[in-house]
Amino acid sequence: MQYRLFDLPDLPADEPEPKLSYGRRLTIRNEGLIAQGYNPASRRQLLRGADPDCQLRCKDCKHAWRMYGWTGSFFKCAKNPRGVTRSIATDIRWKWPACVLFEPREDTNQRTAVRSEEP
Ligand code: SF4
Repeated sequence: MQYRLFDLPDLPADEPEPKLSYGRRLTIRNEGLIAQGYNPASRRQLLRGADPDCQLRCKDCKHAWRMYGWTGSFFKCAKNPRGVTRSIATDIRWKWPACVLFEPREDTNQRTAVRSEEP
């Protein structure tokens, strides 16, 4: 059998891409920013860029705070250049590595205490 141009047999349709939720896309974007060395909240460089052994997290920082809403509580950063909104786009994660704007909390935890004792 001989085919002519545009006379090809039907090809199977491509599998549709799974549609990701907004929250999942946000998580992927945030993970990408951290991998590039930036904190997703402040968009500043991570402290561990200068000190790979740095274990400080947003939860150790005095700029991180908890906002209470109808469906629960959410963590925010007061240094977020986009401001503090009720959107999940400005939520932070306690586990995110600290950025260069980090300042220790007054209720210093063990990890921060160990770092502040270093020379
Ligand atoms: S380390 Fe502090 S200033 Fe930096 S993003 Fe986290 S909470 Fe905000």
